[in-house]
Amino acid sequence: MSNINTDLTLFNELVEILLDDEKNYPVAERIDPAELYESIDLSLNDNAIVDEEFKNVLQNVITATPKTATNLFFNQLFGGRQSKAVLGDLLAVLLNNSMYTYKVAGPQVGIEKEIINQSCNMIGYGPDSNGTFPTGGSMSNFMALVMGRDRKAPNFKSKGMAKPMTLYTSEESHYSNAKNASFAGVGRDNVRYIKADAEGKMIPAELEAQIVNDIANGFVPFYVNSTAGTTVLGAFDPIEEIADITEKYDLWLHVDGAYCGSAIFSKKRMELLKGIERSDSFSYNAHKMLGTPLICSIILVNDKKHLHNSFSNDATYLYQTDQDDFNLGKTSFQCGRRNDALKFWTLWKSVGTNGLEQIVDQQFDLADVARDYVRNHPDYTLYSFDDSISICFNYKAIDPKVLCTALYENQITIVGFGSFNNDTFIRLVTINATNSKEDILNFFKVLEDYVEKNTSLVAQKELANS
Ligand SMILES: *Cc1c(COP(=O)(O)O)cnc(C)c1O
Repeated sequence: MSNINTDLTLFNELVEILLDDEKNYPVAERIDPAELYESIDLSLNDNAIVDEEFKNVLQNVITATPKTATNLFFNQLFGGRQSKAVLGDLLAVLLNNSMYTYKVAGPQVGIEKEIINQSCNMIGYGPDSNGTFPTGGSMSNFMALVMGRDRKAPNFKSKGMAKPMTLYTSEESHYSNAKNASFAGVGRDNVRYIKADAEGKMIPAELEAQIVNDIANGFVPFYVNSTAGTTVLGAFDPIEEIADITEKYDLWLHVDGAYCGSAIFSKKRMELLKGIERSDSFSYNAHKMLGTPLICSIILVNDKKHLHNSFSNDATYLYQTDQDDFNLGKTSFQCGRRNDALKFWTLWKSVGTNGLEQIVDQQFDLADVARDYVRNHPDYTLYSFDDSISICFNYKAIDPKVLCTALYENQITIVGFGSFNNDTFIRLVTINATNSKEDILNFFKVLEDYVEKNTSLVAQKELANS
């Protein structure tokens, strides 16, 4: 039957197969969903499977799965593989702790707290700051929203909404803001989308005008979400100017740094988050810019009493020993909670804060390489701006949706498209810090070679325009 040693041997064999396969086929062959169950045996059956067959099925599954760690994957706001972080995550699986109490997590609690403390210090939060590891950037935004709601309306938790409350976020911000307004009982219609400028940053004057208007109409403004790295353009909202407004009207200021908040690790890029110490909460995803395995999301709170106020609950069956400070369940959304801290800690411990800075700087350097390339080649049009790791472009005026889909279906490279104002474009993301400058130039080369061999792509566009 099963035995951890033989399964780990099998694991190592499968890892060898996968790493080899990634080298030979950096883009996995796409299986049409209609043919998926015929292509791979995914069925669950009454009887046990024999070992050799089990290994074959696993091999088929892992080699057919989209490869997110290779140098041809640019589709998402994560990519690559930081091996020291992978090591930490594998250990977390073996240890299988739950992060709610010191009694069952022990030193893992200290690891989580160390990451939170160091991060709070880096952004200039005071001695009362604290944080937690939610299940992702969307959940981080949700927790921030709930804290802002409870600070403004202390009876909301027990009575529900008394007066209509409004929250503010830019039209370029993450879609979780709308869902969270609904989950928090505030209502999607009470989300005010503030206009962004030509570079995709929230316009503070528009924000203030909307707040004034809402107050005059009997609404209770309570929360502003500003974004450090918008999902499409990678733009940074001006925190300092937004903080002037949130302080004036006593609103909670959250900075959603899920995408590019890790820029706090770079002395050169910290400037993009100027004013961050004036926020009430800040979140960042280490599984995006820092390259840890998913999920690794951190929310920091300037005054920890809000975290306790909104999320703690007594439970004598759970909290039986130690103090609140070491029983992390008192400040989390969930009860049972996966250990997402260890993988980040193993990475940070091994490369140091300076190593994390290099990881961040590398991505901005690669972005410069990509932007220069696009700017210097007349067949390209650039739609994005400096100081961003999203490089948005079109090539030879080819429909970006058609081109992205063709590149994916023909196993050339995996990249996505996005829109800003009235333009739609390919969005290259240089978030994989294990890539080199050559890998970025190779991306353009494989794209150009593909178009060269498939002239119909260009012809289609010309036909459409004629
Ligand atoms: C990715 C992202 C999120 C969501 O984070 P998840 O961990 O995927 O839930 C939120 N905000 C921004 C700006 C993002 O880029």
